[in-house]
Amino acid sequence: MCIFCEIIEGNIPSKKVYEDDKLLAILDIAQATRGHTLVLPKKHFDNILDIDKDNLENLISTTQDLAKKIVNNLKAEGCNILNNCGEVSGQSVHHIHFHILPRYNNDDLDIKFPNHDYDLDEILKEIDG
Ligand code: AMP
Ligand code: ZN
Repeated sequence: MCIFCEIIEGNIPSKKVYEDDKLLAILDIAQATRGHTLVLPKKHFDNILDIDKDNLENLISTTQDLAKKIVNNLKAEGCNILNNCGEVSGQSVHHIHFHILPRYNNDDLDIKFPNHDYDLDEILKEIDG
């Protein structure tokens, strides 16, 4: 059983932000910003590529509700909603979850995208298959 399934089963303690029959939201044990929260379905899916649409829609919808509440009540200025898919992307727990990262003007979270000079038309052709 994965670590999030163990948390859902109550075998490992967690700080619950929200729970219903389908979803659980907990504080991340490693707080990247104050209020860093993980939202996960109670049913195990490895990642965003293998979850079904109904469960995904419910997951993202509740993530939005919780993000609004967290940003508002913790007096954040905004947030990042993050999902890692696959080890290459940084996913370390292979049970789908969205990170809610409240953002503050003076926080030290540094998410940076490099800017590569790829041929965009070639990429579009390849995506089309
Ligand atoms: P990811 O790297 O996207 O798979 O995110 C997994 C997250 O789970 C990391 O941010 C970890 O800090 C967090 N995490 C791992 N174990 C626990 C735990 N027992 N309770 C709460 N969060 C955890
Ligand atoms: Zn699991």
